[in-house]
Amino acid sequence: MDIQNIIIQKIDLPQFIKDYAHVELVRKGNGWRCKCPIHENSVNPEAMYVDDRGGYYCFACNSGGNVINFLSDYEHISYSAATERLASMLNINLKDDAEYQDQKRLEDKFNGYKKRGLAGVDNVKQYLTEKRGFTEETIQTFELGMWDGKMTIPLLDANGRTVGMAVRQFDAKPKYMNSRNNILYDKSEFLFGLDKARRLIKNTVYVVEGYMDAISGYQMGIPTVAYCSNELHRDQIRMLNSYLRRDTTVVICPDNDEAGKKRIPRVRDYFKAISPSRQVRVVLMPDGYKDMNDLLLAGIDAQTLPTEHIDKYVARLIIEACKTIEEEYQRAEEYLKTVKSEMIRLDIIKYLAERWNKDVEDLKKYFNTVGEDSNDILSEASDITGCINDLRKIYSIGGYKTHFQQIDNCIRKVEKKQVVVIGAYSGVGKTDFAIEYMLRAICQDNMRVAFFSLEMPKGKLIERCLAKLIKCSTPEVEGYIASNDTAVQKVIAKLQNRLVVFDGNDYSMGDIQKRIELVNTKNILGGPIDMVFVDYFGYMKGTSEFEGASAAATKMKAVAKENDLIFVMLSQLNRGGNPYGEPNMQQLKLTGDLEASADVIMLLWRPGKDPNLSLEEKDQLENVTRIKIDKTRDGMYGNPVSEYYYNKATSRLEEKYLE
Ligand SMILES: [Zn+2]
Repeated sequence: MDIQNIIIQKIDLPQFIKDYAHVELVRKGNGWRCKCPIHENSVNPEAMYVDDRGGYYCFACNSGGNVINFLSDYEHISYSAATERLASMLNINLKDDAEYQDQKRLEDKFNGYKKRGLAGVDNVKQYLTEKRGFTEETIQTFELGMWDGKMTIPLLDANGRTVGMAVRQFDAKPKYMNSRNNILYDKSEFLFGLDKARRLIKNTVYVVEGYMDAISGYQMGIPTVAYCSNELHRDQIRMLNSYLRRDTTVVICPDNDEAGKKRIPRVRDYFKAISPSRQVRVVLMPDGYKDMNDLLLAGIDAQTLPTEHIDKYVARLIIEACKTIEEEYQRAEEYLKTVKSEMIRLDIIKYLAERWNKDVEDLKKYFNTVGEDSNDILSEASDITGCINDLRKIYSIGGYKTHFQQIDNCIRKVEKKQVVVIGAYSGVGKTDFAIEYMLRAICQDNMRVAFFSLEMPKGKLIERCLAKLIKCSTPEVEGYIASNDTAVQKVIAKLQNRLVVFDGNDYSMGDIQKRIELVNTKNILGGPIDMVFVDYFGYMKGTSEFEGASAAATKMKAVAKENDLIFVMLSQLNRGGNPYGEPNMQQLKLTGDLEASADVIMLLWRPGKDPNLSLEEKDQLENVTRIKIDKTRDGMYGNPVSEYYYNKATSRLEEKYLE
């Protein structure tokens, strides 16, 4: 452990401040508050915050850090002098501390370079004042100098120690060179100007590219640091963060050229990874000015320039780099998924709407799918049984038959944006019919389907799919899965990327819509959903009351339209007349406006369940499901009835024509 850490650990900072500076500390929350003994005339008893882990900060004068920083600022001595004084208080002999002696030697070496440069400062003064616009005071503050034909720029760490040296060459390349890394200086975490900026940082800190820009910012009175490298490194961001308040905004001021702009997306990535809640903005530099130093020379205060949130800045960069409008659409969609703030998303959407000459509200709807919890929501859709995870569907749309021949004869086709309502009393097998409808659509038309199974658990639903596709009875499925039979593999291959199942409960229509849009924007199924099944209406949030049910039914129609899909809604019929007999639309009408929203209505019943049948009738009607088409947009006269036979051995509904 280096000597500074030993000192920090050995000294109890609140006690030290109390004894050394004679101020009263008051316990507050997890730390202590006191008047600041460092700046003059501190009257606020809460000006300084001191924690129990050896850190302090004054909200008025910005002094902060550890016990060495405290003593250094309190006594107006250097960091090294404060280190030595504290070591001696603790009876630590620094002469025997090899590491400290190494640090000391380095400091001495660079202080020596610095002095030599300062001796030649007159040789560079004209350049600094005329070409750079620096004042005498600025030149002195940064201890700039000239030595051996090069301008010398001392590199001070955050504690003000001279830990390296940079030089600017006037007649050789590269223009700027700096010291190699040493035990006190690591280029990838060093920020030029931090020792001075940290005293000024309140609401904002500016991050610039080069030494001259940082010095320019300082002269404008702006807390400014420079990363002096090809890019802003992660460790530099971490270093900077440790000197910022939680609400300090970081303002990036890139050089006004292609290279400068191109660095910003990565800066955004780093901030998102390291300090996601940090506000980061980018200066919009006016044309004709290259950097902060140009602004200084022109007498422009950088703080008066407009800035843009980094998320929007990068959005513009990405979109403007696209070659086709289609590419723009795609990149915009991808990019918006990475923007967390709703307000900034809206800003970006407004920019896109203007660029594409589209309606903001339309775009909002289109992009209004990705929030912070998107991964949580999508995780609901995965993990079905051991071997059947993430059943998904693929490829493009075919025709829109139901592939139940008798039904297709009646209704001819179902179109996208239409709503199909399947109504039945409980126990009739509407879920089984819906599953078969879905599988026929997937297998024959390559439809992409989202199935919202609000009653039946996902596993059971998949079991039924397996039984139907393998053509076995439901109890036999277990054996197929246990042996991981090739038939199971084939089913997975068939359903992969075509089916996504949500089996949460208490979904509202809004929840369903959100999931549909999420599956689409995340491209889970390799393309947009073609068909949605909801089993069943009565299990949705708020549908137990007529008004809620009406609103949900209306919204269902809108969801079908907006997402260009076939919406299949299952509904349990209200008990009316004979529960085994032919139902009618009256029983649907009681369920909100479901009937009004539907383009196609199919009503199912099982005549064989009637307990009053004779044995012969019962035998004849066993496993028979009758389906009446009660409403269709075209292709039908009357209310034709089809009849299907449920084959237990294959779990399929088979055609059984009515005579
Ligand atoms: Zn203070």
